[in-house]
Amino acid sequence: MIAVDERGYYGEFGGAYIPEMLYPNIEELRQRYLEIMQEETFQKQFHRLLRDYVGRPSPLYLAERLSEHYNTNIYLKREDLNHTGAHKINNTIGQILLAKRLGKKRIIAETGAGQHGVATATVCALMGMPCVVYMGAVDIKRQAPNVSRMRMLGAEVRPAESGSRTLKDATNEAIRDWINNPVDTHYIIGSAVGPHPYPDMVARFQSVISEEMQWQLEEHTGRAKPDAVIACVGGGSNAAGAYFHYLNEPDVRLIAVEAAGKGVHSGESAATSILGTKGIIHGSRTLLMQTKDGQIVEPYSLSAGLDYPGIGPMHAHLIASGRAEAISITDEEALKAAYFLSRKEGIIPALETSHAFAALDVMEYNSSDVIVICLSGRGDKDLETFINHFDDYQNGAL
Ligand SMILES: *Cc1c(COP(=O)(O)O)cnc(C)c1O
Repeated sequence: MIAVDERGYYGEFGGAYIPEMLYPNIEELRQRYLEIMQEETFQKQFHRLLRDYVGRPSPLYLAERLSEHYNTNIYLKREDLNHTGAHKINNTIGQILLAKRLGKKRIIAETGAGQHGVATATVCALMGMPCVVYMGAVDIKRQAPNVSRMRMLGAEVRPAESGSRTLKDATNEAIRDWINNPVDTHYIIGSAVGPHPYPDMVARFQSVISEEMQWQLEEHTGRAKPDAVIACVGGGSNAAGAYFHYLNEPDVRLIAVEAAGKGVHSGESAATSILGTKGIIHGSRTLLMQTKDGQIVEPYSLSAGLDYPGIGPMHAHLIASGRAEAISITDEEALKAAYFLSRKEGIIPALETSHAFAALDVMEYNSSDVIVICLSGRGDKDLETFINHFDDYQNGAL
């Protein structure tokens, strides 16, 4: 049985490794999250917003031309059609409703590329709650359009000026804020990472993805189970949602696609399941990229959402136990897959999601298989990157 245990572990991964001063916040969350999430009024409100605000259920689309090319049956779970353009909104809606139930008055979040910051700023506007988003000063420069979006939505974007001035420094600032404001503030974490109960809570909010997949597949194919589910993995939230209702169905293959960056052994990679070793990052015991003496190795991927040195504890367990198959895909392979999907199906995927599509070129399958790809987000935010590499693609240099 694959599920988190009472202490917050998936096998040997997970737990809550937190500074003493955070204990009251995390403990309050741990004691209350399941009870609140199971309340009927909570469920009603959550699903009403998913339907009327996010636009769920997201379609399950049979990609005929893609299927023909790969000689199998490929369905796309269209999280790219959600409000704000990706799966992240499922989690931020759930967490802000939970924060309100806990009596919180203020929301904080960390963001790297700004996608989670935008999803958080969106739900704070929706609920009329003040929102502070911590973001590395370097990322603020690199991701100007998302910074503008957050400001437009009324959030305050606070630069993290320490260390490498990127995601990990923004996370440290957010934790510092939470320690200083334990009573009135909720910290919305953006992926299936962090101390227990965050990974399980985020996975449950995202599990709406596979909940819908079950009845949609039944409608399309007559059976609720696919042969394989493919998802890209940064921290692991869209994958956790797409796998959730199939975790204990061993005949459904779970395929986790990581970013190999410039190549797994190039020194510029984010392929955590291959390069990672056991350790503690952001409050949980998991696989992470670190030096022999435990310093975090800077990850690299062209896609900001996969550029993370760890992996959520659920995925560390799925991969270590053999339940999930890990595949790593380079920047170039992901770019090619993005151009290919755009021309084949008229869908421009996010760069993160493009990694999941590239997996079709390297995995094995049968022509009778039903394969679902979690199309985690749309590519509008990545257009500049796509255009910068377009000539290389056209003249075959990719
Ligand atoms: C943030 C993001 C990801 C990576 O995050 P996970 O928590 O691993 O899902 C993947 N795809 C898109 C479109 C994203 O915005």
